[in-house]
Amino acid sequence: MNRRVPVSNTRALAPTPARDITVDLLVVGAGTGLAAALAADELGLSTLVVEKTQYVGGSTARSGGAFWIPANPVLQESGAADTLERARTYVSSVVDGSAPAERGSAFLDHGAATVEMLRRTTPMRFFWAEEYSDYHPELPGGSARGRTCECLPFDASVLGAERPRLRPGVMEAPVPMPTTGADYKWMNLVARVPAKGVPRILKRVAQGIGGLALKREYMAGGQALAAGLFAGVLDAKIPVWTETSLVELVTDGDAVTGAVVVQNGREVTVTARRGVVLAAGGFDHDMDMRHKFQSENLAEHESFGAEGNTGDGIRIAQQVGADIDLMDQAWWFPAVAGLPGRDPLVMLAERSLPGSFIVDHTGRRFVNESTDYMSFGQRILERERAGDPVESMWIVFDQAYRNSYIFAAGLFPRQPLPQSWYDAGIAHQSSDPVALARSAGLPEDAFAETFRRFNETAAAGVDSEFGRGASAYDRYYGDPTITPNPNLRPLAKGPFYAVKMTLSDLGTCGGVRADDRARVLREDGSTVTGLYAIGNTAANAFGNTYPGAGATIGQGLVYGYIAAHDAAERTV
Ligand SMILES: Cc1cc2nc3c(=O)[nH]c(=O)nc-3n(C[C@H](O)[C@H](O)[C@H](O)COP(=O)(O)OP(=O)(O)OC[C@H]3O[C@@H](n4cnc5c(N)ncnc54)[C@H](O)[C@@H]3O)c2cc1C
Repeated sequence: MNRRVPVSNTRALAPTPARDITVDLLVVGAGTGLAAALAADELGLSTLVVEKTQYVGGSTARSGGAFWIPANPVLQESGAADTLERARTYVSSVVDGSAPAERGSAFLDHGAATVEMLRRTTPMRFFWAEEYSDYHPELPGGSARGRTCECLPFDASVLGAERPRLRPGVMEAPVPMPTTGADYKWMNLVARVPAKGVPRILKRVAQGIGGLALKREYMAGGQALAAGLFAGVLDAKIPVWTETSLVELVTDGDAVTGAVVVQNGREVTVTARRGVVLAAGGFDHDMDMRHKFQSENLAEHESFGAEGNTGDGIRIAQQVGADIDLMDQAWWFPAVAGLPGRDPLVMLAERSLPGSFIVDHTGRRFVNESTDYMSFGQRILERERAGDPVESMWIVFDQAYRNSYIFAAGLFPRQPLPQSWYDAGIAHQSSDPVALARSAGLPEDAFAETFRRFNETAAAGVDSEFGRGASAYDRYYGDPTITPNPNLRPLAKGPFYAVKMTLSDLGTCGGVRADDRARVLREDGSTVTGLYAIGNTAANAFGNTYPGAGATIGQGLVYGYIAAHDAAERTV
């Protein structure tokens, strides 16, 4: 494959014109759906991908690109010593009946084969993000060493003339440097542990800038994963029609036999002999659905999900009888509140780092700040449903924290918070905790008491109230130079800061009810013949839980593989 083009070539590309066509498999959505297309193509099925937006990649391209697929060959080759049996124990204990057991089992049974398929059909190389703990490592079968894998920095120039079609990422570094999630952990700590941070920075800057000199464009995270999937799809010559939306499924009796798709206002019919895979993401940006199923308090543009994810796949599946499940769930993600009219800002390690705590509008802590982001969000919604909503939340930290770590995934240690944050009331600063509370509109006495108690707790290194730092997951993003608890340090010396947070998400994860073969189910448990749902269009295979970093992309990839195989084996 040699299709390199200059990196500056980023103009929008016209879509391949849509036309009436007959294929074996239609895949709707170019995120993890690309894995379904690759698996189908390998099985000899003629496959078409339709994608609503001008970009390929969906939220998958915006993501960290981590995937959680237990006992996969990359883990085995890296010495992770994971077994399917242990993973089964873990999935069953973490899911705890919130999803059908066979969904988790099928995911585990096909995980290794999915990774092998991706290694055969794409140029990606994967690695184990060792020590990125499962999110609930203390449960039976849980792993503190982790089961998360990532793509090694990937040269996106191999996409050639199609490069501009790759959806841009969210977390762009100021200079070209393909930063993996595993790199980020140590780069974030560069001021504290330079021996681990500096070599990684130098290596990635050399790779990024050096690559440009060779006309290579190295990317990491979700950009690498989406580019890698797309490269495989291009190599296999699987057509991808961008700016082409599913609007209706075509049925023959009870079976789905194709779809009507629209491109530039023109409808065409795709006949799909072996089925349609709905991989159209969640309902991240459909505020009617979000208010109806989740919370009236969710605001527009708060989700980090790609803008094309407006619940189309779910609604259109319902029109042919699909049942839905877990609609109150999302991959909740607490974030720094955005400036008015702007997106929120990503928070990765910030909640786990010592010298900080989080309070609600009452000035009190209410959660283990370092817990996984889905559990954090669920706690907020639990309170709302109990009639005790979190009206606002603030991360509070001291100057030593600001001097030590990256903040909002973009402000370097010691860099002042932007003046615009102060002007918008998102940030407050004071050398006195009581004055800080007053400035942020928090009850002064309650806040002062929280401040005092937190400092006592942090000095002792044991958070008896919320257990912060007790789990290996909490500690992964902590500061190992702080002992005895890498997540706890008293806020010693001002100035102190309070920065407003918001409840964002990485996408929704309730949707169409599907079985262990990715087949869409009706309310009575029968299958809608010829219709599959994967990724965030399907109800989360892990129920109301997030087992480990990459469990959302992991299940999209694996269920894409499962759907393609089921379609190939169908008698038609
Ligand atoms: C900042 C960020 C970081 C994240 N990090 C991680 C991580 O490291 N690991 C992890 O597992 N998860 C992560 N996630 C979550 C993860 O990215 C998503 O849950 C996952 O990518 C969803 O995959 P999907 O295929 O369901 O949807 P997507 O990747 O969003 O793909 C769906 C596609 O369908 C298209 N579509 C929608 N409607 C139609 C229609 N009518 N017709 C045709 N096409 C349509 C959309 O435009 C979109 O391109 C992250 C998310 C974000 C935003």
